[in-house]
Amino acid sequence: MDVQRKLEILADAAKYDASCASSGTEKRDSSDGKGLGSTAPGMGICHSYAPDGRCISLLKVLLTNACNYDCLYCVNRTSSNVPRARFTVDEVVKLTIDFYRRNYIEGLFLSSGIIRSADYTMEQVVSVARKLREEHHFRGYIHLKTIPEADDALIAEAGKYADRLSINIEMPEENSLAKFAPEKDVRAIRRTMGRLRLKLDEAKENVRTATKTKPPRFAPAGQSTQMIIGADAASDKTILDTSANLYGSYRLKRVYYSAFSPIPDASRALPLVSPPLIREHRLYQADWLMRFYGFDANEIVDETKGMLPLDIDPKLAWALRHRDRFPLDIATASREDLLRVPGFGTKAVDRIIATRRLTSIRLADLVRLHVPQKKALPFIVLSDHRPSRHLLDGAGLTERFKPKAAQLGFGF
Ligand code: SF4
Repeated sequence: MDVQRKLEILADAAKYDASCASSGTEKRDSSDGKGLGSTAPGMGICHSYAPDGRCISLLKVLLTNACNYDCLYCVNRTSSNVPRARFTVDEVVKLTIDFYRRNYIEGLFLSSGIIRSADYTMEQVVSVARKLREEHHFRGYIHLKTIPEADDALIAEAGKYADRLSINIEMPEENSLAKFAPEKDVRAIRRTMGRLRLKLDEAKENVRTATKTKPPRFAPAGQSTQMIIGADAASDKTILDTSANLYGSYRLKRVYYSAFSPIPDASRALPLVSPPLIREHRLYQADWLMRFYGFDANEIVDETKGMLPLDIDPKLAWALRHRDRFPLDIATASREDLLRVPGFGTKAVDRIIATRRLTSIRLADLVRLHVPQKKALPFIVLSDHRPSRHLLDGAGLTERFKPKAAQLGFGF
């Protein structure tokens, strides 16, 4: 099989994995004339697409889509009737270098089905990164998918070469993983995440205390994971609780939410259709509220429903459920409270805080500061604006933010 055909199969097989954004790594470039590539944004474009059409800017491939495991939600499972292919280590290295030189990509996202053993597969994955870094002096971004059962020494070596490592938790609940991926061991997944966390903490401490010599690197962009949404019946509350636990226990950089995509010849245990993509979007918004806005997982979702509303964003939904905490006086509110105002992002809040030291903020100042007002005005007090209690407490406020109903077309 030629490399072109392998690439068709193995790039297609990798498109179901969404956990490969290239944020948060260290800055590297080759402007000194040594080495190849950089991690600067926009240095290469990859045309790798998730099934829903999102563009992901990395060469995103599997080393092989053959796999010993039979995870029901996975197109590469051993019982799947798809064409199989396998790259050699040198083929992936050459493709990465060629694509980088042509400016098609800014880095590599490499995963693999499990063949022979976890150690054998992980060794192959690590070999690609080792060759790229040591033989070709490649300084672009590398994200390696880690195999939880692999030997500690291999994982340590992966961290030496990769910017980011990830292990997919796959399902929000342990019993769903046992049902859909019986060969996977959630304890091994969590144990390896724990090992990665220790190594990441150690590397950070080494950087902090380093004096003369540069300390050994370990995955400077940290670790991430992916959860498939909508393959099982887990509620948004369960999903966010799991994410909060993962962030807290293993200090993950990101949890990616991937709306389940129906796959060919799927098991009857799986749903026939994907969940609405807006659900994935709302989960990402909720995830940001946990990471950057000081929200706890257990306050984002309405306990009585268990699901995020699809028609309005989670911060607005929270504010509508907690109207007694508003309106907030912009002149005196704490940063924590300002971050809870619908429509206010972290930068908008910082601009407000910097400005209110100098002047009392008016409506015109919000415009000048590029602070969005549409969602915020019913919830804030300015020196020339005070929302009526009637508006804030009225049933019409929720309706005001919902998208207008539109008559559906005939479909022809
Ligand atoms: S181990 Fe990975 S590649 Fe293999 S079937 Fe499971 S999810 Fe797919």
